[in-house]
Amino acid sequence: MAQYFEIKTAHPGYLLFYRMGDFYELFFEDAEIASAALGIVLTKRGKHLGEDIGMCGVPIHAANDYLNKLIKLGHRVAICEQVEDPAEARKRGSKSVVKRDVVRLVTPGTLTEDDHLDARSANYLAALAMVRHGDTDFALAWADISTGETFVADVPAEQLGDELARIAPAELLLTERAREVLADRHLFAPSWNAIAATIPPEAADSESALPRLRSAFTADAFDPTAISRAGRSALGMLVGYVEESQKGRHPPLRPPRLDGTETAMAIDAATRQSLEILQTQRGQSKGSLRHCIDLTVTAPGGRLLAARVAAPLRDAKAINARLDAVTRLSDDTLLRARVRQTLKASPDLARALSRLALERGGPRDLAAIGKAITAALELAGSLEAQSDLPPALQGLVATLSTAPGALASELGLALDDDLPLLVRDGGFVRASYDRRLDEERALGRETRAVVAALQARLMDETDVRSLKIKHNGVLGYFVEVPASHGTKLLEPPHREVFIHRQTLANAMRFTTTELAELEGRIAKAQGAALELELAIFSRLRGDVLSCTTQLQALADALAELDVTAALAELAATRGYVRPLVDDSLAFAIEGGRHPVVETMVRAEGQSFVANDADLSGSDDMGGGKLWLVTGPNMGGKSTFLRQNALIAILAQMGSYVPATSAHIGVVDRLFSRVGASDDIAHGRSTFMVEMVETAAILNRATRRSLVVLDEIGRGTATFDGLSIAWAAVEALHESTGCRALFATHFHELTSLAKTLARVANVTMKVREWEGEVVFLHEVGPGAADRSYGIQVARLAGLPEPVIARAKQVLDVLEQRSAGTASSSQKASVLDDLPLFAHRPAPAPKGKDPLYEALDTVRPDEMTPRQAIETLYQLKKIR
Ligand code: ADP
Repeated sequence: MAQYFEIKTAHPGYLLFYRMGDFYELFFEDAEIASAALGIVLTKRGKHLGEDIGMCGVPIHAANDYLNKLIKLGHRVAICEQVEDPAEARKRGSKSVVKRDVVRLVTPGTLTEDDHLDARSANYLAALAMVRHGDTDFALAWADISTGETFVADVPAEQLGDELARIAPAELLLTERAREVLADRHLFAPSWNAIAATIPPEAADSESALPRLRSAFTADAFDPTAISRAGRSALGMLVGYVEESQKGRHPPLRPPRLDGTETAMAIDAATRQSLEILQTQRGQSKGSLRHCIDLTVTAPGGRLLAARVAAPLRDAKAINARLDAVTRLSDDTLLRARVRQTLKASPDLARALSRLALERGGPRDLAAIGKAITAALELAGSLEAQSDLPPALQGLVATLSTAPGALASELGLALDDDLPLLVRDGGFVRASYDRRLDEERALGRETRAVVAALQARLMDETDVRSLKIKHNGVLGYFVEVPASHGTKLLEPPHREVFIHRQTLANAMRFTTTELAELEGRIAKAQGAALELELAIFSRLRGDVLSCTTQLQALADALAELDVTAALAELAATRGYVRPLVDDSLAFAIEGGRHPVVETMVRAEGQSFVANDADLSGSDDMGGGKLWLVTGPNMGGKSTFLRQNALIAILAQMGSYVPATSAHIGVVDRLFSRVGASDDIAHGRSTFMVEMVETAAILNRATRRSLVVLDEIGRGTATFDGLSIAWAAVEALHESTGCRALFATHFHELTSLAKTLARVANVTMKVREWEGEVVFLHEVGPGAADRSYGIQVARLAGLPEPVIARAKQVLDVLEQRSAGTASSSQKASVLDDLPLFAHRPAPAPKGKDPLYEALDTVRPDEMTPRQAIETLYQLKKIR
């Protein structure tokens, strides 16, 4: 108990997995939490201060699954192992307790095992640092310890939310103070609570971080003094936390890359959500842009593709370099097929390497490294043979061809074809790789033959035909005979040879001196063989780790090649086109399609209607164009708006785009507010959210930005909303001059096209057919003459009487209010409607008993007396 409490107290906030034999046991409150979370039995064991001690346990061999479940539920777990052989403890005295220690802290941001990770997503641990010296500076550092990738960036406080939305860390470290300051400034997003881990202020000190950073990252590749104080503090927090959680083992953290917000297209959190870039609004991957375009064949390729969709570039040159590589592979079907085929055989190099570095890797991880190297060399060979490779591909070839082939050969020679998961299982070194190992194994085999010979001899000597030599974990080797023969061996002369061990219902077990000796020899041979294998493993692991930097570069090159080939495949198979990307203010899309809706519509056997968009402008003109998009609900406005934003993202990440032609002047910031975004859970009304977001756009958009806005002002009274929308359009046009698509239901807005030079009206075309609307999903010039709201309401299944009544009201409103402008006048129009004021909507026929009864009444056939009776009856029904 003393040992348990000592360890438990040292790790507050963690569930303690306390190793006892073949189980991890949890006690007290931990046991209650775990048993509830895992659905396992809560038992009792002994008493503490007179109270029962709650306990539950998970068997070692299944621990990973349970651990996974707990982490997914947001728990943190400290793994406490027995760190000495129980025999050692017994030597110290009979009451002595086996030494135990925490060997690893498992938290959402520090996972490395494949069981715990999504192969196609990065798993980032992020640290948010705040440094004050006059100004308050913020920085973020983030790393995926399963691959070693590390980043650091100075981030202005207002942009922390956007950056974290992009990085989407599994765990966020920050100090209590930083949390308070951000909360005071309304910059602490409620969603961070689920991932935040508070760390003590001393762990965030930027000066004491220096030595820690120097030892964590090799000095020549990274100079910690070259980054900001806030950056150092963030990195220091990160590295400190990783070291603490890994208990002295070091993941192969790579020199941090400075990840300035200047190089990527700025996309804020709301825009990411609205465009469903990595996830749909419901939090699923399926249906997102990334899922739709991901044709990569390796997990690392999938991760890189996700990173690229999340952070499109801003530099036209860099974008075109990527596009050149994609073009080369999209034009060359054969080469592309070969590259993708080879890549398929290339395993997750970075994650295998990280596990090996953390002493968590097994024989399969070693084999993975070998296979990746082989694939890299093969790819380098295929590509080198090609002429006219664009520079980006040449760069990849250069890296791939430096792959350490000798290491791969060595691994190939050393490792068997069928590999166990764990090193301690042994049996992974190939026969004839190591002479001494071969000898020990032969000895093991020989002794087994000796056992067989011994069995035959004992059989003869005792004349018991059914005598067998068997082995189990408790007795080791033993002689077993059926119970009926057992007594024979207990008597002379056999009594001299056979030593009784166990009596079962139908068998008796014995040992002999000779068998015990043999057993010793077998165990020794096996032990010696395993020891040799462990030594070989550790040498190979050392060889691999000494190539860490080189292998990491290789992993990058393989992932990049996969992404390039996947985008080429996308371009070639989906009818995408290469966008022309430059520094102009052009945005001219012909035949544009929505990548995701297109595949969904096609899957239903329908065709997607392609649409043009031209928002091109220039500095001379005062900026880009703004299109006001009108049209009925369901007409395709949101789809059209979003598809143009997605095309910009695709183009700038270096992908072909779903269009027949596209010319895009680099977009610096993308803003999209499309579709309802209710934040009621966080106490803000739709209107408030909308205004906060509109403010963000008007304050931050530049002339280079692309703004895609849907129905600003819909959350308030008509005239308020209209005026706000009106003013927003004017502001975007007059002061920002950005390229914009603005969908609206306020038809009044369309008159702005007359006064504002760069505003144009377009509308989603519809056709009316036998009183029904048919949506053509086609964008054409002009403004919608009406909104078809009633027809859409009918499609949605509003009851027919309500539809009929709405039509009446609409007719009156349209007739009478033609020309009127104030809301009070409209209200008076409504009051004038006699029907509207008095008559209740007719109930559906056949449902209301009153109507049913009325239907049966025939006034012409009634006597006056019958008439009065009927009247009384009807009154009763009411
Ligand atoms: P709105 O925003 O005008 O209400 P949406 O953009 O949500 O309309 O479109 C409604 C539905 O119409 C979509 O879910 C999609 O199935 C279909 N749709 C939209 N645009 C197109 C198109 N260009 N081609 C084919 N179907 C489309």
